[in-house]
Amino acid sequence: MTVFWHRRDLRLDDNRGLERALERSEDPIVPLFVLDPTVLEHASPVRVACLLEAVGALRERYRDLGSDLVIRRGKASAVVPGVAADVGSERVVWNRDYSGLAADRDRAVVAALEDDDVTWESVHDAICHEPGSITPNEGTHYQVFSYFWKKWRDRDKRDPVAPPEADLLATVGTDGDEIGGVETGTLPSRTELGFESPEASLPTVTPAAARTRLETFCDGPIYQYADVRDLPAAGGTSRLSIHLAWGTIGVRDVWAATERAADRAGDGQRESVTAFQRQLAWREFYAHVLAFNPEIVTEDFDPYPDEIPWRDDTEALEAWKHGRTGFPIVDAGMRQLREEAWMHNRVRMLVASFLTKHLLLDWRHGYDWFRRHLADHDTANDVGGWQWAASTGTDAQPYFRVFNPISQCQEYDPDGEYVRRYVPELEDVPTDAIHDWPELEQADRDRLAPDYPDPIVDHAAGRTRAIEAFERARGE
Ligand SMILES: Cc1cc2nc3c(=O)[nH]c(=O)nc-3n(C[C@H](O)[C@H](O)[C@H](O)COP(=O)(O)OP(=O)(O)OC[C@H]3O[C@@H](n4cnc5c(N)ncnc54)[C@H](O)[C@@H]3O)c2cc1C
Repeated sequence: MTVFWHRRDLRLDDNRGLERALERSEDPIVPLFVLDPTVLEHASPVRVACLLEAVGALRERYRDLGSDLVIRRGKASAVVPGVAADVGSERVVWNRDYSGLAADRDRAVVAALEDDDVTWESVHDAICHEPGSITPNEGTHYQVFSYFWKKWRDRDKRDPVAPPEADLLATVGTDGDEIGGVETGTLPSRTELGFESPEASLPTVTPAAARTRLETFCDGPIYQYADVRDLPAAGGTSRLSIHLAWGTIGVRDVWAATERAADRAGDGQRESVTAFQRQLAWREFYAHVLAFNPEIVTEDFDPYPDEIPWRDDTEALEAWKHGRTGFPIVDAGMRQLREEAWMHNRVRMLVASFLTKHLLLDWRHGYDWFRRHLADHDTANDVGGWQWAASTGTDAQPYFRVFNPISQCQEYDPDGEYVRRYVPELEDVPTDAIHDWPELEQADRDRLAPDYPDPIVDHAAGRTRAIEAFERARGE
């Protein structure tokens, strides 16, 4: 028997590790999922709800094929070798995860398997081109996205992998709760795991939902993507991030669908497909950066000679978290996060800039909040996005280019539609006043929307304070 250990690849289709497990195995596969307490320690109600739904769907898919998913709770370094021993497996296969936490866990699992003389294999699956395969001359990872993109774009991509045939999977025993001689185990509920119900309404996180989303997007919206991707009210992005984060869709499937869309593209539409593919490359760029620099989850990627003098201001941090900064587009974004466990990319950049520059609060506070509230949290993208905004990352926003949340609101939400959707206090406020809110006279703010907060910082003063602080950190 071979055990296939699912982690952030909660699907059967386009799963390279699963294919590899089947390829070299003469016996059927026993699929396994482990609820590891170390991973749960870093979880949140949103993430646990997503995880349980995706694992439940994965199990159903195995059951439809006459097999099942073995589910266990416990430390992976004990559970994986334990299940391997119980099913008499000499080989365990999984897909690689590039975060430092996962690497620590995997090292412990490998040590335990090797102690038991069980062979193991980890397979590249989560991205098209694995870390180390697209490198500058000195051979680690690119630090400038545009160079990475050119190589990534021109490199041949693998085709999607077919799902396994039913007869290659271990079948369920006659009493229905055992495969390969081990109990299948139950999937605990959210409350059994000690998590509250998420306050956000979550999208469905299953392979079927992922496929529908991909097909719908590639049937039409992908051709307008370049024009509307920066407009948060338009809803013109794919919303595939949650599926890529949980692995309810394989990246090769996504790539292949975009290539088919490119083949069907009419005049001027090809560029829009390329603009979308470029975003997939950002995801891989950040995965490479994290794989080579696991410490960037807590440390600045590109530290300044002196410490950045981050402020300590709980009140401002709380106002930011709860969408009560008095900057309408920032507040709309932070409220969208709480309501949908997702936020539009342009607004993620804005709220991250606002926290780290206008409020001069440490990016780690923002990362921590996003990690808990985003259903699509992905360590590489999340930390990459935060360090970009904080001007501490790879190919980051220069410290002196501070986003102006007033002009950004005018430019990207010209009709105030996005703001009104998430900030009901401003529903009846004229669009110009929404855009100018932080700079209106106090009397006008009191008259137009007495329940909506005044700005917690002066835009120009906040910008100057940030630039001066970063200059001090640079030793200027
Ligand atoms: C501070 C900050 C934090 C972020 N945290 C995350 C995160 O935890 N998880 C996450 O998947 N993305 C993160 N992003 C990137 C981006 O905002 C989301 O990927 C995007 O908004 C997801 O929506 P979508 O699937 O509709 O994107 P689309 O525009 O449809 O893009 C398609 C896919 O490309 C990838 N992608 C798009 N933009 C980026 C980007 N800037 N960086 C890396 N990959 C990208 C995603 O996988 C996305 O699903 C973050 C960005 C910032 C500025």
